Amino acid sequence: MNRIACFITVVALCGPVPATAQWTGSGSSSALLTTSSELRAAADRIAARSTLWRDAMRSLSSLGRHTLLLTPDQVVVSEAPASETTDAFDASTLAEVSPVLTDGARVDVVLVVVNVDLLASMHERLGSSRADFETDLERVLIHEVYGHAVPYLLAGSAAGRCADPAKGERAVDACSVRRENAVRAEAGLGERTDYTFGGLILMDRLRRSSVLAHVASH
Ligand SMILES: [Zn+2]
Repeated sequence: MNRIACFITVVALCGPVPATAQWTGSGSSSALLTTSSELRAAADRIAARSTLWRDAMRSLSSLGRHTLLLTPDQVVVSEAPASETTDAFDASTLAEVSPVLTDGARVDVVLVVVNVDLLASMHERLGSSRADFETDLERVLIHEVYGHAVPYLLAGSAAGRCADPAKGERAVDACSVRRENAVRAEAGLGERTDYTFGGLILMDRLRRSSVLAHVASH
């Protein structure tokens, strides 16, 4: 979640997944589009409980700007825009945000990639309940969408960047975590106080596990 930004290209839009009808919004909003029923369901659950989230989606709909919510199989990554050297999404990364810049600075679309399979397999390994997985997925979405994507889109430019905690900064003081915690409070998902471990249920359980070192390095 805190990796240095790379350039993400959506392959599903021009690849072998043609039907635009597959891209559906959360609720009645066109501000957040996805082909994943799992991600759409998580977004719907957040929208049902958070006024801040709903208001943001309404504003973005009226501005005609949106987030594309993707899974790793729908994207490739590269080190530079339009580079011919591309790679698959890093399978060990939980989520990534990438604003699509038009004319150098304008932002009408933000790509948010969420590695649903990774989150599910980590929970499976821990023997978590379905509910624990689902609420962690909501936490990831709130951070990436409301914490990062929405500020870019409301500003309509790269100047809307909302940063993660800088070195030495308290997590709760960082722009992205402050926004995340405001929605978490409305959605009853607890306050995030720790950036390093993602603020997820599973991270608490992984603290003493060998899986942690691998996950925390991203
Ligand atoms: Zn972040």
